[in-house]
Amino acid sequence: MPLRHDHWIAGKAEAPAGGAYLPTIDPATRQPGDEVARGTAADVDRAVTAAADAQTDWARAAGADRSEALHRVADAIEDGSAELMDVERACTGKLPGQLRLEVDMSAAYFRYYAGVLRSVGGRTIDLGAGNHTYTRLEPYGVVAAITPWNLPLNQACRALAPALAAGNAVVAKPSELTSTSTLLLARLATEAGLPDGVLNVVTGTGPEAGTPLAAHPTVRRIAFTGSVATGRHLATVAADRLVPLTLELGGKSPLVVFADGDLDRAVAAAVGAVAFNAGQVCSATTRLLVEATVHDEVAARVVDAVARLEPGVDFGPMITEAQYDKVLDHLAAARVSGLAPATGGGAYEDGPAAAGLYVRPTVFVGVPPEAPLAREEIFGPVLVTMPFADEPDAVARANDTDYGLVAGVWSGDVARGLRVAERIEAGQVAVNGGALTIETPFGGFKQSGYGREKGIEALHDYAQTKTISLSLD
Ligand code: NAD
Repeated sequence: MPLRHDHWIAGKAEAPAGGAYLPTIDPATRQPGDEVARGTAADVDRAVTAAADAQTDWARAAGADRSEALHRVADAIEDGSAELMDVERACTGKLPGQLRLEVDMSAAYFRYYAGVLRSVGGRTIDLGAGNHTYTRLEPYGVVAAITPWNLPLNQACRALAPALAAGNAVVAKPSELTSTSTLLLARLATEAGLPDGVLNVVTGTGPEAGTPLAAHPTVRRIAFTGSVATGRHLATVAADRLVPLTLELGGKSPLVVFADGDLDRAVAAAVGAVAFNAGQVCSATTRLLVEATVHDEVAARVVDAVARLEPGVDFGPMITEAQYDKVLDHLAAARVSGLAPATGGGAYEDGPAAAGLYVRPTVFVGVPPEAPLAREEIFGPVLVTMPFADEPDAVARANDTDYGLVAGVWSGDVARGLRVAERIEAGQVAVNGGALTIETPFGGFKQSGYGREKGIEALHDYAQTKTISLSLD
């Protein structure tokens, strides 16, 4: 019997006003899972009102007290990690190692911003004698956080932790397919002492719950992670009310490998882009650009390693039925256009993987840059390779995309690695496996969006600067 999950509003579970619930599935088996409340504008209004009621006291609390509260949320995530991993697994089919990583990182977001909020503030501005002028970072008020299904808890915490640290109250609207971990987070946070109404969760579909949330007159800021199409829609909703928003959208990120790079680690990075979350990662570097002199060798090594990946061991299923169909449609269209995969290329016909939404890890070698496979975000375990001639050609090919989220560069010539990194149009570039962590700001160039999550930048993004000037005369 599936469990039914209600919204979390003002510190308690609230049934949906419309009385309806949405189904979920376990994508590893396609079996039905729990049901979540089908939110509507009435539920959104209750949640936003609860958030507005709680926000003033939350914002007025001393930074040290807000910090302490966020540390307790981090503790609660750590203490509840087994349950969080369990509910996340049930609707995503993710592997244990990945779930552990995501839950640990979710706690780390709260821990990090609990620290940052105690060390970031306004500044004094010296206007000469007779004036005392300073700035304050003030919260917006109620923030709406609309998040996707690929890293559900993680994406939610990435937005919630800095928004709460800055003194906002939040109404989160997770993907209707993967809402349970965000609901559990809110319950754990309440039990850990986060004041009622500071963090609320309304579940439901984008049109029925997401748009009313973004359009609600009391919401003063929007954080959106998801597709370009929905981002564009929400940008118009926000523009209508002149509300700022962060857009963390898609990507088609390049991995640029020079012949003098550490080819072993570059090959491992390419295989990781296919395997990690089965490629359902906005920052997956699924365009492998390799210097022509070593292209065939590197491509062959990647194909060999990808062909050995095992479903349920090395990678999980597509998280949604729609995404499974979309990836298979991409692969079918590529075949029709004359492109043949060097490995993979479709679904599993038999065995346990055929019962779930698993797609064979796939590599296409030597794909023309104009092919849809090389240009469109597939969001599945599909990698394309392309040779490049020299450094300018590598940069041109890396930038030959509408997106600009992430890039990787591998070169034994560090100056060249940094030169290429400077010329690539992307929000973050890892050279020779450089780390991109919670401390490093994350966000897009071009169609990958705007605004920054992570780092101190995110705290600034969730605050507005006020100047106060006092005449001493
Ligand atoms: P999506 O845009 O379909 O959905 C994301 C969220 O928006 C969900 O909560 C959904 O219910 C909501 N939504 C959908 N339609 C809406 C509408 N009309 N009004 C208001 N809300 C609406 O995206 P998805 O399919 O869940 O996620 C996959 C996409 O997210 C990919 O393109 C991926 O690249 C992107 N993504 C980006 C990042 C990043 O940090 N840049 C991270 C993860 C995923």
